[in-house]
Amino acid sequence: MRFVLAILIGKLVRFAGRFVGRSTTLPGQIALKMDSTLLKKMKFDGKVIAVTGSNGKTTTSNLVAHILRENGHTVINNTEGSNLAAGVATTLLEHCTLGGRLHSDFVVLEVDERFTPIVFSQIPLDIFLVNNLLRDQVVRNGNPDIILEKISQAVPHARQLVLNANDPISQQLGDGREFVTFGMARTGRSTEECLHLTHDAKVCPRCFGKLNYDFFHYNHIGQFCCPACGYHTPQPDYLAEQVDFESGRFTINTLPAQVNYTTPFHFMNTTAAVAVCCTAGLPLEGAIRGAATFQVSRERYDEFDVDGRKAVLMLTKQNPVSLDQNIAFVLTQESPKTVALYVNNVIYTDDKDISWLYDVSFERLVGEADYIVCSGSRAYDLAVRLELAGFDRGRMIIEDDNKKLREAMKRSQGTIYVLAASAFGDEDGILEVLR
Ligand SMILES: [Zn+2]
Repeated sequence: MRFVLAILIGKLVRFAGRFVGRSTTLPGQIALKMDSTLLKKMKFDGKVIAVTGSNGKTTTSNLVAHILRENGHTVINNTEGSNLAAGVATTLLEHCTLGGRLHSDFVVLEVDERFTPIVFSQIPLDIFLVNNLLRDQVVRNGNPDIILEKISQAVPHARQLVLNANDPISQQLGDGREFVTFGMARTGRSTEECLHLTHDAKVCPRCFGKLNYDFFHYNHIGQFCCPACGYHTPQPDYLAEQVDFESGRFTINTLPAQVNYTTPFHFMNTTAAVAVCCTAGLPLEGAIRGAATFQVSRERYDEFDVDGRKAVLMLTKQNPVSLDQNIAFVLTQESPKTVALYVNNVIYTDDKDISWLYDVSFERLVGEADYIVCSGSRAYDLAVRLELAGFDRGRMIIEDDNKKLREAMKRSQGTIYVLAASAFGDEDGILEVLR
């Protein structure tokens, strides 16, 4: 009875929340308070797929859901990226019957790394994708070892596990069991040396000897081999090859594939999603076809006009590796260019930590960006970091008042690349200001 009441109240709060704009976690919070065993009592008619990892959770889980739908399946997923226990509960509450049954062929859940053991000790887990593990918001997540330990507690609950062949850290989750791998061969943007400050696998995570790399895709993601113990990148079950960054064309297991957003990251995410969908039973051709029509969310990538100049928006969370990716993208673009960085506090905890800025390779922009704009509530912290990176003060424009940002942009020149790193999204309405 308490279970049905919790579902009913959760659904009502969700419905009401839609009108006041607060609905992504509150219904789950309330329902879990009313019945702490709520998740355990949910019944799933189809398979449950979970996506976790430091980077690309939202995009990859949306990709998986998109591919499954394109192949005629019914899918429930948490598109809004509410990936803590209450967010997952909210998604399930919205779609379940009053008896707690979910009728879709698939439930695809993006789940925060730290919450995977909590969620999946309660609901069944058919396929578990761990995208990657890299340094991420130290204050919130500590280091990758801590996160690895958390996720490893969820792994025994998973019937099938899909791991990144190019990541020596998260691949350890497959030790002692069978797992499926995805990976990417050397591309035109692979490098012999790691170009980033954040390199979390300089030593072999198994024997602590020096880990060798044939090449890096980004950060410590690449083709690795330990001369001491033999730990190495396996031949991936799903391999991306012949990546063309101009056209977005590539192959997965030699079949032609296509993406609409051409970063190394996105080719990897797409290959991961295809691997998951094939593991779920789709034919490779169908999975690749489904992936080709996926569009990256406009909230995360968009192009628009600022006073007659082209502006490109790339929204990330406060994650050094994501920001490194965006910097790598800017470096491939033509001059003149202005990089507008936007960093705020983690609003929901009012966490003022900015130490993660020191894990971002801003040094790569020196001599590349004609102007650099520091904005958001941490604009001055950004400026200190950039000066340490070697930027000339004369090329820096500091504006922490959003209302004056558009005016400040006029002192810069060229295409504007807005790299906005906020905790959850566009909390401060930066997009409205610029658009
Ligand atoms: Zn080793």
